[in-house]
Amino acid sequence: MPNVRQFLELNRQLPEKKPAQERKVEFKEIYAPFDMKDAMAQADRCLHCGNPYCEFACPVHNYIPNWLKLVAEGNIMEAAEISHKSNSLPEMCGRICPQDRLCEQACTLEDTNFGAVTIGQVEKFITDTAFAMGWKPDLSDVPMTDKKVAIVGAGPAGIAAADILIRNGVKPVVYEKQPEIGGLLTFGIPQFKLDKEVVQKRREILEHMGIEFHCGVEVGKDIQFQELMDNYDAVFLGMGTYKPMAGRFPGEDLPGVYKALDFLIGNVKHVLGYENDPEPYVSMEGKRVVVLGGGDTTMDCTRTSIRQGADEVFCVYRRDEENMPGSRAEVKNAKEEGVQFKFNLSPVEVIGDGKVEGIKVVQTKMGEPDENGRRRAEIVEGSEEVIPCDAVIVAFGFQPNPPAWFKDFDIELNNWNGVVASEDTLYQFQTSNPKVFAGGDMVRGSSLVVHAIAEGRKAAEGMLDFLEV
Ligand code: FAD
Ligand code: SF4
Repeated sequence: MPNVRQFLELNRQLPEKKPAQERKVEFKEIYAPFDMKDAMAQADRCLHCGNPYCEFACPVHNYIPNWLKLVAEGNIMEAAEISHKSNSLPEMCGRICPQDRLCEQACTLEDTNFGAVTIGQVEKFITDTAFAMGWKPDLSDVPMTDKKVAIVGAGPAGIAAADILIRNGVKPVVYEKQPEIGGLLTFGIPQFKLDKEVVQKRREILEHMGIEFHCGVEVGKDIQFQELMDNYDAVFLGMGTYKPMAGRFPGEDLPGVYKALDFLIGNVKHVLGYENDPEPYVSMEGKRVVVLGGGDTTMDCTRTSIRQGADEVFCVYRRDEENMPGSRAEVKNAKEEGVQFKFNLSPVEVIGDGKVEGIKVVQTKMGEPDENGRRRAEIVEGSEEVIPCDAVIVAFGFQPNPPAWFKDFDIELNNWNGVVASEDTLYQFQTSNPKVFAGGDMVRGSSLVVHAIAEGRKAAEGMLDFLEV
C-alpha cells in the first residue's frame, strides 16, 4: 500500500548534483543516479490523486502514478513495462524534459509548497535500472506483417514512430544522414545534460526489437526519395528544423560570431571523436564570450563555453528573468557554473575591426503581453552601451529548412516552411501526399523532445490505420 502521508515526512529530494567546480571542467552528466532506497522513498511521496494532473501535463500522457507506485514497491521490471507503453524514450525524457514546466509543475504537491514528486528523475531511474537488470521489450508474440515503412531521420520523432510500428508488426527502416542515431539528442544536446552512452544503449535495444538503421545516408543525396516511395508502403519524415534565426544586426558576419547549433554540434563531435565537417570545432578557451538568447539552446552554449575554459561568459537576454523561455533548472545550473546574466538588454550591433571586439546593446523595459502572453521588451531610448568580448554566439532559435525535392512529391508546406500535418486528420500526421507522414520539429517548429516523441507515435498510429494493420 502506498504511504499517502509520506510527503509530510520526506521532502522532495533530487539525486546528488556534482559541485559546480567539479562539473564545469568536464562533459559528463551532472546528476548522480538515485539509489534504490531513495527512488522508492521519493516515488512514495505521490498522493495518487484521483485526477492526476501530471499525466495531462505530460505530452505523452505517461501513466505516472502507476509507475511511481510500482517503484515505491520496488517492482522496477513492471514499472519499465508500463513506462514504455506511453513513452518510446523514457530515460531521455527523464533527463532532459523541462519538468518544471510540464509534469512536475502540474503535481498537486507543487501547489501546496511541499515540492513536486521528482517525476523526471524517477522516470530515468526506472529505465536505467531495468536495462542494467537485463530488461528488454518482449515482442515475441507480435506477428510480423509484410508491410514496411521508411523513416527519414533518426531523431526522437523518427525513433518513436519506428518503436510503435515494430510493436505492431510493421518493419521500420530508418535513414539518417549523421553517423549516429538520436538527432539532436546526440548532436545538439550537450553531454552534461545527456551522456551519449544513454543513446548507444537505446540503439542496442531498438536494433534488438528489429528496427533497422542506415546511418551516414542522406535522403535526397545518397538515396533518392523516389526509391523510398517505390520500395516502402509508407514514408515518415522526421527531419527536424535546422535553419538558425538571424539577429539581423550589423556585424553579424564578423569572424568570431557563431551560430549556436554549429558551435554545439562541433563541440559534441569533437568530444565524441567524429569528423567535424561541416561544423568545425570552435574553442572558447581564454575568451570573453557573449551568448545572445534566453532559451535552452542559449544555456547549452553558455555552459559549453564554460567547460571549454572561457574566461568569462555572459548571457544577454532582451526580457527579464521571469519572461525567459528556458527551463528554470537550467538557468540555475548555468548560474552555479559561473555564467553571468545580463537581462533587459537587446543587441544592436557587433563591433570590431576584422574580428569581434564587443557587442553594442540597448536597455529594454517590460511592456504589455504579446499574443503568446509574454511581456514585450520595449527599447529605452539613449541607453546604448558596449560589452567588450572576443566571441558572440547567436542562439535565437530555428526554423524548418525543408529540402527542395518536397515539391516534386506534393508535400505541402505552411507559410513558415513547416510540413502541413496534424492529429486532426483521418490518418494522424498524414501530409498532402497520402503515402507520406511527418512529425516532430519539422511539423511543429523547434520544440521539445517529448513533443517529437508524441507526434512520432501518433504518426505511426496514423500509418497503421492507413496500411490497415
Ligand atoms: P531532430 O532531433 O532534429 O532529428 C532529425 C534527424 O533527421 C536528424 O538526425 C537529422 O540528421 C536527420 N535528417 C535530416 N534530414 C535528413 C535527410 N535528408 N536524410 C537523412 N536524415 C536526415 N528539447 C528538450 O526536450 N529538452 C532539452 O533540454 C532540449 N535541449 C535542446 C538543446 C539544443 C541545442 C537544441 C537545438 C534543441 C534542444 N531541444 C531540447 C529540442 C529537441 O532537441 C528537439 O525538439 C527534438 O530533438 C526534435 O526531434 P525531431 O526528431 O523532430 O528532430
Ligand atoms: Fe515528465 Fe517528460 Fe516524463 Fe512526461 S515524459 S512524465 S513531461 S519528464
